[in-house]
Amino acid sequence: MIPYGRQDISQNDIEAVTAVLRSDFLTQGPVVPSFEAAVAGWSGAKHGIAVNSATSALHIACLALDLGPGDRLWTSPITFVASANCGLYCGATVDFVDIDPATYNMSPERLEEKLSAAKRTGTLPKIIVPVHMCGQSCDMEAIGSLARAYGVAIIEDASHAIGGHWQGAPVGNCAHSDITVFSFHPVKIITTAEGGLATTNDPELAARMERLRSHGITRDPDLMTHAPDGPWYYQQIDLGLNYRMTEMQAALGLSQMDRLEQFVAHRHTLADRYDAALADLPLTTPWRHPNSHSACHLYIVTLDDPTRHREAFEALRSKGIGVNLHYIPVHLQPYYRNMGFSPGDFPLSEAYYSRAMSIPLFATMTEVQQENVIGTLESVLE
Ligand SMILES: *Cc1c(COP(=O)(O)O)cnc(C)c1O
Repeated sequence: MIPYGRQDISQNDIEAVTAVLRSDFLTQGPVVPSFEAAVAGWSGAKHGIAVNSATSALHIACLALDLGPGDRLWTSPITFVASANCGLYCGATVDFVDIDPATYNMSPERLEEKLSAAKRTGTLPKIIVPVHMCGQSCDMEAIGSLARAYGVAIIEDASHAIGGHWQGAPVGNCAHSDITVFSFHPVKIITTAEGGLATTNDPELAARMERLRSHGITRDPDLMTHAPDGPWYYQQIDLGLNYRMTEMQAALGLSQMDRLEQFVAHRHTLADRYDAALADLPLTTPWRHPNSHSACHLYIVTLDDPTRHREAFEALRSKGIGVNLHYIPVHLQPYYRNMGFSPGDFPLSEAYYSRAMSIPLFATMTEVQQENVIGTLESVLE
């Protein structure tokens, strides 16, 4: 089976991880701060806080922004469930904003309508989580200026998008948001096996997220309720968690950062070839926004004929092509249906779901594998 995504591990990556295994620190050592500096440095944000997954990063980002019971968080229905669940972890209510069918990203027009209606009824959200689908940034000027106008915080879910740019600036610089979150799961652009990282330009949010990833504990005397009892002393001042990244994970991530540009360039080569080779098939290839340089995490086509969707999936899988579907609209998951969502709530997301298919695209993909995917798609759809 040719997978839809997979990691690329080099000899240097292996040596970086084994060097940590021979060192003094497997956790809470010097490599996590180096990895944080590398990712924050790449993005141009002032601070980076590494954690054990993007899901954890989303959770502490919401906590740092004081999301709690009675508050609301809005995201896109076309995302991984984690972008919405972070709101529920904090006791908040979750709602969704429908997508722009050209980019599969949260639609700024739908967002504006929904914000203006919510303002009238006193039900504005505290946080909006725009998701950069497939590695292509949302329209962050539009979403950022709406958020400022309505006094709403923004967490960018850039799990797909490290290596991507918006208007020439790296995703994650937080020019239009409070916090950006990256994922380093093996299918993503770079990997730490499991891992995530939050960037921010706000020193207080950074300090808060750093505490929250490690039990809410501080060793900073300025933050304590009284002078330290002695050199051993620390205080717990928030209810945090253990979301720390290990030194082995950080070493893998730091080594992978050396090849970030190379990974994204190869993904673009593959995406350009797909664009040309699939142009005459009964499907739509991904539209690339002129302001965006995508990280090309996923290559999603939408079939012209939704009645052939399931059959095409089954045929491709049976011929060894590991197609996938990103994503089942979150509001249609049983857990969310139980909270009152129903089919028809977000029609553009549901129409997308009836046609979408992710075809294989990853850093180690060869031309022969790509020809195989193209030939099989042609034979299945003709
Ligand atoms: C992968 C992913 C996540 C979760 O990432 P983990 O690191 O696996 O927790 C969240 N949001 C989106 C959009 C993702 O693709």
